[in-house]
Amino acid sequence: MINFAPFRQLGLRTQLSVVFAALVAVLTLVLSSGLGGLLRSSVQKDASQVLYTVADNASRQLSQGLFERSRVVQVLSQARGIWEKGLDSPEVRELLTRNQAIDPYSLWIGVADAGGDVKAATQGMLEGDSVRERPWFTAGLADLHVGDVHPAKLLEKLLPPNVSGEPHRFVDFAAPIKMDGTTVGVLGMHGSWEWTRDVLESLAPTVTQASSIALFVFDRSGALIYSPPAYRSELERGKQRLPVPPSFTEGSKAPAAVTSWVDGKSYLTSAVPLQPRNQASDLGWTIVARQPVDVAFADAYRAVNATLIFGAFAALAAIVLAWLAARRLSEDIKTLCEAASQVEAGKLGATIPLVDRNRDVKQLSFALRGMTARLLTANTEMEKQVRVRTAELEAANRALDLQARTDALTGLMNRRGFNTQIEFAVALASRSGRSLSLVSVDVDYFKRVNDTFGHDAGDEVLRRLAQLLQQRVRACDIIGRLGGEEFVVILPDTDCDGARTLAQAIVESVAAQEMPLVGRITVSAGVASFRAQHDSSRALLCRSDDALYEAKAQGRNRVCVETAE
Ligand code: GH3
Ligand code: MG
Ligand code: MG
Repeated sequence: MINFAPFRQLGLRTQLSVVFAALVAVLTLVLSSGLGGLLRSSVQKDASQVLYTVADNASRQLSQGLFERSRVVQVLSQARGIWEKGLDSPEVRELLTRNQAIDPYSLWIGVADAGGDVKAATQGMLEGDSVRERPWFTAGLADLHVGDVHPAKLLEKLLPPNVSGEPHRFVDFAAPIKMDGTTVGVLGMHGSWEWTRDVLESLAPTVTQASSIALFVFDRSGALIYSPPAYRSELERGKQRLPVPPSFTEGSKAPAAVTSWVDGKSYLTSAVPLQPRNQASDLGWTIVARQPVDVAFADAYRAVNATLIFGAFAALAAIVLAWLAARRLSEDIKTLCEAASQVEAGKLGATIPLVDRNRDVKQLSFALRGMTARLLTANTEMEKQVRVRTAELEAANRALDLQARTDALTGLMNRRGFNTQIEFAVALASRSGRSLSLVSVDVDYFKRVNDTFGHDAGDEVLRRLAQLLQQRVRACDIIGRLGGEEFVVILPDTDCDGARTLAQAIVESVAAQEMPLVGRITVSAGVASFRAQHDSSRALLCRSDDALYEAKAQGRNRVCVETAE
């Protein structure tokens, strides 16, 4: 799987540039390799044809040379009128000398009698010597003969050295001299091998040097018999054999092929067999032309390089174009992003601008604009609703809180509310050092009321009692119903006497009041006051409760004050 994560990190502009550049680079590579291949094959074809032509020309010239020399020997051998004068006659010598003058490559022309003794020769060389063992002589006795190249044997010491400084090598030509059907001798001619070199070098020396084309000759067995001097030693050392089978101009086979030579390099190579003009000169040579591959294909390489360079420039141009195009697009998107960020940050008056440089972005900006407007309206509406709901909730909380601290039956504070108040009152009294008293009130024999008149009647009694207590106390006093039919009154700024007076007034006014249905009831009350030292709300309540029970114990319908410290 390809990992696209790093690509996704890139901006739109870079992404587009990368995609375009990659596209152009791939296109360039594909095109240049295709084009390169085409060029290469076309160039190879042309170069092959040139090589073939050079080799073919060489082959034609060499075969023509061999043919001409063999014909000369043949025609001379048939000059009966001269031979009749004797194989060593002055006429024969003159004939030989003149012929050598015509063809300076004929280094030696001589006549041997049927026994192999040389009778006459140019410059008198080898005259009197026997050539009976020489192949040219034995072959020449029988018929017209052309002998393949070989080193000089007898003549090496007699001849002046070669211009090239190399040992003499010859191609032999020989033909029988016949008189009245009898072979009386053999006419022999040693053609210098230098002739081959001159032919090959004269073929197209300027062309071949400039294009590094070199010509070689291989013999029938595939051995190298001629090489330009510059390459000879290396090829001979490596025992270079005929590198490719002979080429064909037409048909399926290419005129040249890329081949490895013993020097380790690759050459475009073309081989053309020597086409003999007569049977005697059929030496089986193959003429080979070669050209280094890098020279042969230089045009193709140049063309591919040019395509690659052009492709690289095209890729660069594509990057720049893609970059510019992407900038146009990304600028719009950037504008939209910035506007959206401002809207998101709640910046006052921020809106989405309309951008219209292309259809999709225009559509996007329209959609964003609409969406933002709707969101802003919805947001305002929601904020309003939240404000209303919050207010409602706060009111409900307050009501709940009140409810939690209020006794449902009497509307007085319940124990929870009362606890808060008494804590506050005790804290205030201990801080200010002012007096604080409690009065605990309990209905006498209330059970009987319930039992006799029913629970509802009992409730009504409790409600009336609450009202009566509220009428009796001051606005700053706090009354709580701590459970059942027991009430406690907190009296700030009131000492024990004051509290007892109030308690007495309550007891008396309850006893004096007629309750509906129930008739008269009584209550008992206990009084306790805050003690400056080591006192607490809890202890204070306990003491007023104790005092209340003391009142109960003393017969009810009365007030008892806590026992002194
Ligand atoms: P004492 O003089 O010793 O206080 O006797 P009592 O009968 O008043 O006391 P007791 O504690 O024996 O009974 C209290 C009764 O109060 C019992 C219960 O049914 C009644 N009571 C408690 N709370 C309520 C209420 O909210 N409504 C009504 N109707 N009755 C209640
Ligand atoms: Mg009671
Ligand atoms: Mg009670």
